[in-house]
Amino acid sequence: MKKIVILTGAGISAESGLSTFRSADGLWNNYKVEDVATIEAFEYRPDMVHKFYNELRHIMNKAQPNLAHYAITMLQSELLDTEINIITQNIDLLHEKAKNKNIYHIHGRIDECICLNCGQITKVGGDISSVNSCPHCEVMGMLKPNIVFFGEMPKCLNKVEKLLAECNLFIAIGTSGVVYPAAGFVQIAKENGAKTYLFNLDKADNVDLFDYHFYGKASETFKQFAEDLLIEQESSL
Ligand code: NAD
Repeated sequence: MKKIVILTGAGISAESGLSTFRSADGLWNNYKVEDVATIEAFEYRPDMVHKFYNELRHIMNKAQPNLAHYAITMLQSELLDTEINIITQNIDLLHEKAKNKNIYHIHGRIDECICLNCGQITKVGGDISSVNSCPHCEVMGMLKPNIVFFGEMPKCLNKVEKLLAECNLFIAIGTSGVVYPAAGFVQIAKENGAKTYLFNLDKADNVDLFDYHFYGKASETFKQFAEDLLIEQESSL
């Protein structure tokens, strides 16, 4: 069985109307990272942190997947004898909405919060604030958005390590190659023998580690690539 790992970043969601981290527009630009994405910010100004993620949740809830997400759905259902796993840095749920499978959110999810008292994860529908209590331990003010803040450990790293060691093909879509450890995943896959592909609007910081580069909108470049893979499969049957 062939194994493909797809690493996605904010760029795959850009065409769904969600601004990337480093783009000049969008919500991220109205806030300083240290005010909304650090544990210190959450301890000293929890309501500012909650306000930011509540706003982001509203925006992300409305967003719909684009052709790049659906190209993954197509590959996962039509590529024979191939396991495709998705490692995403995105906190949005566009992979889930596109019915992608095998998704690992290494930076957390916008629809969850985690209790800093008991460690339980709770689904979040509406807004949360510092007066909410954890439904498990009932302690008030300890619910933190289940997002990996700067300085915190990304999630699922043991599983990710295994996937990177086993994959034949490593594909990165819409990621600047700046945020570690995700920016280092291509190197691990490459050292383990995988062919490496980059689909990005412009050059990523770690561009030299990719064997093949496709520049442009992921909804066009990756969709084309996925269709070509299926044509290749058909002609080899
Ligand atoms: P980034 O903002 O640093 O880089 C995005 C990359 O995507 C850029 O290199 C850009 O050239 C490329 N890009 C933009 N539009 C594209 C398109 N249509 N097609 C293909 N490529 C496109 O994003 P990052 O590397 O993911 O790192 C930022 C961090 O911020 C991540 O850790 C992520 O958790 C977080 N973030 C998440 C979201 C989200 O969940 N949608 C949005 C913003 C930021």
